[in-house]
Amino acid sequence: MNGYAGQILRVNLTDGSVTKEPTPEQVIRQYLGGRGLGAYLLWTEVPQGADPLGPENKLFISTGPLSGTLFPGAGKMDFTCKSPLTGGYASASMGGILTAELKYAGYDAIILEGVSPKPVYLYIDDSKAELRDASLYWGLGSFALEKRLKEELGEEFQIATIGPAGEKLVKYACINHDFGRQAGRGGVGTVMGAKRLKAIAVRGSGGIPIADVAGFLRVAKEAYRACKQADMLAEWTRYGTMIVTSWCDENGTLPTRNFQSGSFEHGLNIYAPTFRAKIVLTDKGCFGCPSPCGKYSHSPKYGIYVEGPEYETNGMIGSNLGLSDIEDIAKANQLCDELGLDTISTGGCIAWAMECYEKGVLNREQTGGLDLRFGNAEAVFALIEQIAHRDGWLGNLLAEGVKQAAAEVGQGSDRWAIQVKGMEQSAYATHDATSMLLAYMTADVGAHHNRAWAITYDIAVGRDLVTPEKAAKVVDLQHIRPLLDCLGCCRLQWVELGMPLTSYAPALTALTGVDYSWEDLLHISERIWNLTRIYWVREVEGFGRAWDAPPRRFVEEPASSGVTAGRFTSPEAAQQMLDFYYQRRGWDANGIPTPETLERLGLAELVGL
Ligand code: SF4
Repeated sequence: MNGYAGQILRVNLTDGSVTKEPTPEQVIRQYLGGRGLGAYLLWTEVPQGADPLGPENKLFISTGPLSGTLFPGAGKMDFTCKSPLTGGYASASMGGILTAELKYAGYDAIILEGVSPKPVYLYIDDSKAELRDASLYWGLGSFALEKRLKEELGEEFQIATIGPAGEKLVKYACINHDFGRQAGRGGVGTVMGAKRLKAIAVRGSGGIPIADVAGFLRVAKEAYRACKQADMLAEWTRYGTMIVTSWCDENGTLPTRNFQSGSFEHGLNIYAPTFRAKIVLTDKGCFGCPSPCGKYSHSPKYGIYVEGPEYETNGMIGSNLGLSDIEDIAKANQLCDELGLDTISTGGCIAWAMECYEKGVLNREQTGGLDLRFGNAEAVFALIEQIAHRDGWLGNLLAEGVKQAAAEVGQGSDRWAIQVKGMEQSAYATHDATSMLLAYMTADVGAHHNRAWAITYDIAVGRDLVTPEKAAKVVDLQHIRPLLDCLGCCRLQWVELGMPLTSYAPALTALTGVDYSWEDLLHISERIWNLTRIYWVREVEGFGRAWDAPPRRFVEEPASSGVTAGRFTSPEAAQQMLDFYYQRRGWDANGIPTPETLERLGLAELVGL
């Protein structure tokens, strides 16, 4: 089918075999690619009850139809597996150049299955694909290995790696690429580590077949023009996602000291202008990006280079840990990247430990002598290392994720574990933002913002309102944003630059030769959302409404300072939002898709109704 490379690479780590198979046309018509293809493969290929770290779990790496084309922001790919962090569905999007390179090598996706008896890496050079010994690389940091593989194989190879955290099966290990791009969430790097796959190196020299080249170029150029003419372009490119730090601080959503507040009294020190002036060296973007948000930085204080921090990292290992020096945050960012840790989950876990320490639930003996007060940068650096290597009691505990850590420590510390479905919440404080809180409660991987970024909507319409319209907004966003992950595109051209959503269906139609309307695409996205929900039902015993519970902090405690000081969402309001949401989705009162809904979405046969 036009728009696709036409092949899937299947790699069996257990016996070392590497085979190719055609990309199934019927499947990509119903699931598009990227996240959608990954969800379908997860459902059909990974048996019920598989151990996330065992040979039955698989890691699916999938590009989208627009990936690697000239459409703006078409540099995204998706990593899907059963999550070792949550036990449910995991999907992490990654930018960079690998997605284009993989398609040019002739593959829409890679299926990684089994477990290798020894460390290996996957070498792909167009049609040549094989596993190679990686014993000498085991233990290396992510970027040290990326640099080394580029030196050994050639600069044009695109590399994805895991760091020591993936090897040590830290439950939220990430996959790194292009010296600063990550597939961060849900433990996709943990699964790669469990398979003893240290890296993937890809070089491709082919192209992508396009049904209507002139038509596709016309749509792509119009979309580019919209980005290049956007009022926000200059400021966005100057600061990247860091631009939202001051907005979040002013609006009481900047996570501060484990989300006790949404405002940071030292915020000015970590705002975008300070960041740009003090440490940014240059801008950096993914393949085909008209608006590069990546900022490559250098910290003179520590003598380190890092891509970032971007906003999520700035919030989660900056203000959320009480760090107020942008160079301290850059250093913590660089450590997480090199060691292969998701900065969001790492920040959530360390913030919880700091709160436990300050409240006397953890003592200095348990912290291994670390003075874990908020704001102690040296303690943060030490703890990041301990988590990545599972060193000491606390490092090993936090490597399991904040939900598990709180369950082990007890003493009511689950009140400070800011998570949903076992995933640490990303960087928006939701004391007083009912749509954003609902977005976190219902996100398909756990408390992640990128499924529905509803915080601006809350502020526009009334942050504490509890209405069906607010729930409907969350549902709509959950169909649009993840759809772009299926197409292989970045969402930020739409979100930040206002590139029209009406570009996507004509682009896909011209690319593939198959007629797609925007409504068709939303219908597919809704199908995928429901499939991932049913995946949770299949894998987690008793799954239902209780798994959509908000972090207790936001429904039990008022924010301590800032514009939301004294405010929180009542438990009844959160549950009412959930009712509205389930009704809108066609799910029952326990949050399970009804047979009618599954029938309407063409899922009944697949899920065995
Ligand atoms: Fe990549 Fe940022 Fe451009 Fe999106 S906006 S494609 S994340 S560089």
